[in-house]
Amino acid sequence: MTTPRVALAGATGSIGTQTLDVCRAEAGRYDLVALGASGRNIEPLIDAAREFGVKVVAVADTAAVAALEAALPACDIRGGRDALASLATEADVVVNGVVGFAGLDVTLATLRAGRRLALANKESLIAAGPVVRQAWRTPGAELVPVDSEHCALHQCLRANDNPSRVSRLVLTASGGPFRTHSAAQLAEVGIDEALAHPTWSMGPKITVDSSTLMNKGLEVIEAHELFGPGAPGGPGVPLDAVEVVVHPQSVIHSMVEYTDGSTIAQLSMPDMRLPIGYALAWPDRSAVASGRIDWSQLARLDFEPPDTTRFPCLALAYDAARTGGTAPAWLSAANEVAVEAFLAGRISWARIADVVAEVLDAHDGASADSVGDVYNADAQARRIATEVVDRSVGAGSSGRAS
Ligand code: NAD
Ligand code: MG
Repeated sequence: MTTPRVALAGATGSIGTQTLDVCRAEAGRYDLVALGASGRNIEPLIDAAREFGVKVVAVADTAAVAALEAALPACDIRGGRDALASLATEADVVVNGVVGFAGLDVTLATLRAGRRLALANKESLIAAGPVVRQAWRTPGAELVPVDSEHCALHQCLRANDNPSRVSRLVLTASGGPFRTHSAAQLAEVGIDEALAHPTWSMGPKITVDSSTLMNKGLEVIEAHELFGPGAPGGPGVPLDAVEVVVHPQSVIHSMVEYTDGSTIAQLSMPDMRLPIGYALAWPDRSAVASGRIDWSQLARLDFEPPDTTRFPCLALAYDAARTGGTAPAWLSAANEVAVEAFLAGRISWARIADVVAEVLDAHDGASADSVGDVYNADAQARRIATEVVDRSVGAGSSGRAS
């Protein structure tokens, strides 16, 4: 068997650095050939390129190219809008750990090149579901989810050969740092509190999304795109059969219920190196354990229903999924703008959901049949979201930087 060549987009982030750990843990199993990142923080990119002897380094920001060329004379350095997507043809597997809509080109280029996509960048799938599915049908293309819940579903779905016997997909949610906060307390939360996740250590955007339950809403849409009607090779589970349960310990990563009432769950301690290794090794498995459970320490597993009154983002995501077309792209774009504004101290935490709701109210019902449709939808939703944020700031609804 030849050594799979791996390209890593988003190499400097939380998913990216943990992918480097996975490659280190099984030295010689994977050939890391290419790295990509925004270009805003080049030191870790240079270190990783030297450590793994990669051939290609790509950055979105062309201003970083000269410094990279000076530091890595043996590397092919690429810069600009299409630089990260160009990595797709360099490898057998591309890990997409870019954050936000910016990851769309990597997702599409990888699938269109007929390669395996190890997908952490859920926003690309949510914004461009129908377009991603078309690309996914390219001969040779594979999509293996890295998001821990979808990796769990991918594993649990292997418990039966008859897809029509799947009755429910149950996504677990930690509930985030504000799970037990009252509405009055939620009105006062600050940036540092939103960035203090109880069970996972992740990049800032997804950490805030976890605090609002928007992350779980995005994951409901992600599950719908991966395993819903029309998804290549999937069980065709309808949206109404995708449920969310809050499970504060984050040990059960998700569950599949079959028609006979059996529920199959995947358990491990929260550690993203497990799903990253799974997506690289599949249909084999990593030889090195991540997140092994110590049963003498694991005292209990708790469950509670999600509260969409205190956390309206989850309900907004279901609404957008039901509307379909470009509504999920609008939801995700509005959320990116709102989270950025919150992290900049411009709006309060509670306003994030209001901004998304206001933007979705203005949705024009357009479909998402082409990449052009998706880019237009993203731009339009961002424009409206920015107006809503600016109005909020003008009206004095600022964030409380703690
Ligand atoms: P992060 O902020 O830690 O890292 C983001 C990476 O994307 C960085 O390498 C950055 O350089 C790169 N990037 C940002 N903007 C870019 C642009 N315009 N062009 C090219 N590259 C750009 O984010 P993260 O937490 O690693 O999350 C990455 C993705 O994985 C997100 O979609 C997130 O939802 C998903 N995810 C993350 C985790 C986790 O544990 N961190 C778990 C599940 C899913
Ligand atoms: Mg997840």
